[in-house]
Amino acid sequence: RLQKTVDARINNRPTSPDSDWDTAKPHIGKWDIDPYGGQGNYDMVQRFVTQGGTPDDVIAALQHAGLLGMGGAGGRAYLKWSDVREAKASNGQKYVVCNADESEPGTFKDRDILMAAPHTVIEGMIIAGLVVGANRGWIYVRHEYPEQIKRCREEIKRAEEIGALGNGIFGSRSNMTLEVFPSPGGYICGEQTALIEAMEDKRAEPRNRPPELMTNGLHDQPTLLSNVETFAWVPAILKDSGDWFARQGERDTALTRDVADRIRGKRLFSISGDVNNPGVYEVPTGISLGELIDKHCDGMLDGQAIAAVALSGPSGGLLPPRIPIEHLNRRAIEKIVDDTVTHIDVRDIPLDIQVSRALGYMLGAGIVVYGDRCDVLAEAVANSRFYRNESCGKCVPCRLGSKKITDMGERLLSAEIDLVELGTMYPVIDELSSVMQATSICGLGQVASNPLFTFLKYFPELAEEACRNR
Ligand code: SF4
Repeated sequence: RLQKTVDARINNRPTSPDSDWDTAKPHIGKWDIDPYGGQGNYDMVQRFVTQGGTPDDVIAALQHAGLLGMGGAGGRAYLKWSDVREAKASNGQKYVVCNADESEPGTFKDRDILMAAPHTVIEGMIIAGLVVGANRGWIYVRHEYPEQIKRCREEIKRAEEIGALGNGIFGSRSNMTLEVFPSPGGYICGEQTALIEAMEDKRAEPRNRPPELMTNGLHDQPTLLSNVETFAWVPAILKDSGDWFARQGERDTALTRDVADRIRGKRLFSISGDVNNPGVYEVPTGISLGELIDKHCDGMLDGQAIAAVALSGPSGGLLPPRIPIEHLNRRAIEKIVDDTVTHIDVRDIPLDIQVSRALGYMLGAGIVVYGDRCDVLAEAVANSRFYRNESCGKCVPCRLGSKKITDMGERLLSAEIDLVELGTMYPVIDELSSVMQATSICGLGQVASNPLFTFLKYFPELAEEACRNR
């Protein structure tokens, strides 16, 4: 019922001929994520079913590759695949779901992958089904992506026609069906458990965990749920080997010495804001932010200096151009820089999730760069409003905390706060943040305070300036 309603909305929606498809076109044949250079014929699926491929081989390749989940959490893909494979289905049915409900502000890499290389996502999902023992799957696509929904449906049809999907895949006894499920809409519908609720035709609110989806997912059965890019890398890894993927990481920066051996592979980043060429770029994991901006985005717009950077959309908050050492993980820092260094230039930050965890900042797939003409406080408050508006309201700390934090930010922005009150603001938000992180059911509540909290932490002079303008 829900799906029919959403389908009707999609069919009535005007699509822009020069938007997504044209954005994605230049990448065809240039991304390593697509080993076929534009349109694949599911060679890795054919090899698996006709040449005696085994689930153990596939899982070992993912382990050697060091492939991490590309949706943000960064868990090891091979562990999730192993867990679902080993889980027992009470009704004999397991499922594979691709999360393409890409809604984090500043993140749009999945949008381009689905347009330029949907066959890689579908092939990754078929192989996942063969490995974990699932024969039904869905691509759960954001409903604001009508072109991508259409493209996925066309590619599923093509896969069925060439025998890669359906009954008796490539003449074998393996079966798999795939469908597109348009998300009903709203940021929270992409949270992994809310997504499952939506697919079960319920209100899309996150579930308490455990149990985890690997054992109790869709219809309470084992479910392998992963991001678009995670599935999309699987054919390339199987074709060129896990070792090939692992070697792609860029380990040659001073800040990565401590964790360099953990940097593996390539990944796609969407980068936007005040750079000359915003877009989606496939780069070695671990390259520095400065290299991404200079080499791939053609530098900063109009030669501006960086005023702030959001490395994980707004969810990780804002980083300043020079990050004081004391705000990063002291233990990790002591191993990698000498005592005279007091700040780290944000341009030197390596774009790798393991390094970001070691040093203590969040890294996602969407990077927003703010130039020195932008109002950093206004951006922080806009991001706070986003989380307040998108909170589903299920748990009190998130529902009330996101509102309280946004109200404080708006008062600061409207110059209603003096320096005395500003002095009390940081400890209040610090405490609220801790409570929200500890008690919110899902990730939204855990990150909702970050935009304003990081603004007060890293930009105290701008906060004071806002008070002096009263
Ligand atoms: Fe809803 Fe926020 Fe609770 Fe998540 S943390 S379940 S968005 S109220």
